[in-house]
Amino acid sequence: MDDIITALPKVSVQPFLNHLNSIEETINFTVELESNGELSFLDTTVKHNSNGTLSTTVFRKKTHTDKYLSFASHHPIAHKIAVIKTLFCRANSICGSDQDRNIERAHIRSALKMNGYPSRVISNAMRARPASSSKVMMKPKATVVLPYIKNVSECIKRILLPLDIRTCFKTHTTLRQLLVHPKDPIPVESQTGVIYQVSCGTCHISYIGQTGRTITHRLKEHKQALTSPYHFSAVAEHAMKESHVIDWKSGKVIDICHQLYLVVIWSHGTLKLKGAKSTEMKDCCLKFMVA
Ligand SMILES: [Zn+2]
Repeated sequence: MDDIITALPKVSVQPFLNHLNSIEETINFTVELESNGELSFLDTTVKHNSNGTLSTTVFRKKTHTDKYLSFASHHPIAHKIAVIKTLFCRANSICGSDQDRNIERAHIRSALKMNGYPSRVISNAMRARPASSSKVMMKPKATVVLPYIKNVSECIKRILLPLDIRTCFKTHTTLRQLLVHPKDPIPVESQTGVIYQVSCGTCHISYIGQTGRTITHRLKEHKQALTSPYHFSAVAEHAMKESHVIDWKSGKVIDICHQLYLVVIWSHGTLKLKGAKSTEMKDCCLKFMVA
């Protein structure tokens, strides 16, 4: 249990607190009373006006520095627009009076400018209408998770949108990933949830697949499929159909990924996409050959 706000006659506060603390000795409740007619609750400051009414404004800790995602940082523009919208949405929903709302909006504008946001972007984001509920409810055919690279990722997103494929971005390398290693790294061959590649030793085309287990385990199954009818493998199928020899030693992990991934491959200048059918994180949820 976290914060709870309530209104009680002053004389009842201490008896009520004593009662709460008498119920279970391992649970200790504390109380914070209003000071100067104000009390903060979550991200709201509740003001107790002299005429007995209550008004609300946005609460910020004294140590709050108004630092938000910098406009210059390497993030999709949608994340920056979301920062603006969230702040203004909070101002609109929390501030009880027009006066408080205008003060809060002016504060947000100056804070955003301090973080490098141009006035034009702030105004446009404020004017944009929220997405219609029907649009939000529609489930895309598939989701692609791509490392975010400015200007490139946006292009891919635009190409995939008419195909009803949602694009999500992830960070590729952060300073934290580079510098912070509290534990010995697990070798990639022993990591679960990977995207891997294995090549045909005869025609040199590659197979890219995803598994929720380790690459070692999955490659073993591909090999078993060469001799066993109980295992299915597109790699083994290719080897048998074409009488080619798979270069098992070429098997390598190309990414660690615990989510369902849809890999986008450029082949001979044409964008080729093969969708994943299962939404569960299983083997074989993605398989195709890449020339
Ligand atoms: Zn081959």
